[in-house]
Parts: sequence; C-alpha cells; structure tokens
Amino acid sequence: MTEHEQDSAFICKRCGACCQGQGGIVLTGRDEKRLSAFLGLSLSVFQDRYIEKKKEKRVLATKTGNVCIFFEPKNGCTVHPGKPDICRSWPFFRGNLIDELSWHMAQDSCPGINPGVGHREFVCQGLLFLQKQGLAQKPGPGGPTALVVADLYQKLT
Ligand code: SF4
Ligand code: SF4
Repeated sequence: MTEHEQDSAFICKRCGACCQGQGGIVLTGRDEKRLSAFLGLSLSVFQDRYIEKKKEKRVLATKTGNVCIFFEPKNGCTVHPGKPDICRSWPFFRGNLIDELSWHMAQDSCPGINPGVGHREFVCQGLLFLQKQGLAQKPGPGGPTALVVADLYQKLT
C-alpha cells in the first residue's frame, strides 16, 4: 500500500457492489441534464427511458435484482463520466459522516473505505471532497438527503 493509499479515507476499488441492489439512486436536476447530454438524448427521452418516480424522489431505473440500469458486470458503470452526484459522493453520505457505527457498517459492503484513517479523518476528508466537487445539496423535497451536509462543516473548525 502506498503512502497516499494509507492516508486516504476512500479509494474506490471498482468492485461494483454499490451499483447492485443497494437502494435507489436519487437524481438531481443537474444529474438528469448531465446524463442526458452524456448519452446524447433529449432530456425528455432520457426521463422517459431511465427515470422512475418513488414518492417525491426521481431515481434511476434498475434491472432485475435492483441492479442499476447502467451497470454492466464486465464493464462496470457505463456512464462513469456522467454519473449522478450520489454516485460521485459515496461513501461520504450524511449518515456515514454523522454516525461512526454507520461508517463501520459501510465498510462491510464497500472495500474502498479505509478503516485505518479513523472516523474523524473520514469526516474531514469527506466534507472537503464534497465541498471541492460542489456535491453538497440544499435541503428540500426530492433531492438526495444523503448529500445535505452544510451543517456539518462547523464540526471541522
Ligand atoms: S462498493 Fe465501494 S469500492 Fe466497490 S465500486 Fe462501490 S464505491 Fe467502489
Ligand atoms: S450510475 Fe454508474 S456508478 Fe451510479 S449506480 Fe449506476 S452503474 Fe453505479
């Protein structure tokens, strides 16, 4: 393991476990525009083909077994450059940031999380990553609540 890997709270191993039956991928309006552009589709065609409604949420369609519609066993994520914010943000979800036990449990399904750095460092790196990438969401109906983290930044100071 390199020094960088030792110090990183998360490095994706590209195992694809998080794309297979881990629950709905909630989309933002920005996601819909990015994905439709990536696929070369109009927004309305993209929405008809790839979006399902779950109560007030809009989620990516799935294949058999709740596998993401864009996941291929051999190739992994087939929309990687255009993938949704929620996929870009994992494992730095609110639940894993505020609750050390959730962070521990997430390690069971995601081999990319580095337990060696500890939860405090995971939180620091996660919040900085979300900030730099502009991934934090405003609270409100419909969006991914896992990315509503603005109130957590005061914990960094
Ligand atoms: S489960 Fe973790 S390591 Fe595997 S693809 Fe998803 S984010 Fe990467
Ligand atoms: S969009 Fe890509 S990264 Fe996100 S769940 Fe689907 S296959 Fe996985």
